Amino acid sequence: MITRDTLRELAAFQSPAEDAVTFYFQPGVPQDKSHRQEAILVKDLVRNAIASAEKVGKNGNVRASLEHILELSEQLHGNRGKGKAVFASESKKLWREFDVPPHLPSTQLIVNRRFHLTPLTCLSEVLGKVSIALVDRTRARLFEMSMDDVKEVADFINELTRRGRSDGFFGYDAGHAERRVDNETTGHYRRVGERLMELYGTGGIEAFILGCHEEARNYIEKELHPYTLQRLIGHFVADPATTSPDEVRQQAHRILREHRARQREQLVAEVLNEANAENRGALGLRRVLKSLQLGEVQTLVLERSFCATGTECPNCSSLDMARVKYCSFCSYEVQPITDLADAIIGRALGNGADIVYVPNNAQLQRHGNIAALLRFRAERNIAGRVAV
Ligand SMILES: [Zn+2]
Repeated sequence: MITRDTLRELAAFQSPAEDAVTFYFQPGVPQDKSHRQEAILVKDLVRNAIASAEKVGKNGNVRASLEHILELSEQLHGNRGKGKAVFASESKKLWREFDVPPHLPSTQLIVNRRFHLTPLTCLSEVLGKVSIALVDRTRARLFEMSMDDVKEVADFINELTRRGRSDGFFGYDAGHAERRVDNETTGHYRRVGERLMELYGTGGIEAFILGCHEEARNYIEKELHPYTLQRLIGHFVADPATTSPDEVRQQAHRILREHRARQREQLVAEVLNEANAENRGALGLRRVLKSLQLGEVQTLVLERSFCATGTECPNCSSLDMARVKYCSFCSYEVQPITDLADAIIGRALGNGADIVYVPNNAQLQRHGNIAALLRFRAERNIAGRVAV
């Protein structure tokens, strides 16, 4: 399982020997029964990487990692439809291997000073755990979705109502019985809320989805813990008795997709507003690089295709545009780097920032496909302090 800590650790990694090997495996379509094409592709990638390393005299550094990847790829056979991500460095004795959702842009093999994390950070948006509850007056089924898998974690019935019915009290007093059933239903909904808290506490899920009949929705929500309600991202009409896990997965995917699209739109609008007001928004590479160096970035906003070359200061590690010769912070002579996007992602994760990818956003494209929402503006704070 890839956590934020894993991402941060990989992002902080640097190999002076330039033997950081990143391998992504994206499985082929399920109809492709032989997995021969995949194996041939990986073999070619490894052969090319070895040839490139030989050309610059670094063959010894990367050969063992690449051969290990070749062996691994021969065992993959489509990896049961899952993607694979491998991060290896011979000089640092590092090998990390993960199964990931099969939503990678392609099968890739990259050798560099840092790991290539863009595809993984794109995925990290889908890595959080989502809880889904199907509830009616008599039954509740709780599901959990992580990566693409959905599993059922609880299935319970409204014990009170069942007992009440067998007691045969319905004939006794219609009004009284109705109230009693209402109370018991409320008790059942409350039990759902409690069960969710037992399972996930206050930090175990990224999102919560409710499947129920429309008229029950408000009554159920009233009984949920505020923590669960905060994470509620959508509903769908469902019946716990008849809804299949596959339907749960499809509905959850749809709701999650729509929720994320809304979030991204709001984020871009917020960044643009903040930047226009010269407040907590940074637009374009130059401004984002400066904000990163000042530790201002709260959320880095990128278009998936963002890539750039740049420079890095060997003294203070600040990143800059490709044409710069001397560090703007310490005046050291800077060095060119080909993987500026990976360096930026690494710096942002290291600073505890979130990374959000926004697909095909015309407003973001106007600013070179990169922007950031800032926690604060260092310059302004300093100016403010001086003024006081
Ligand atoms: Zn510097």
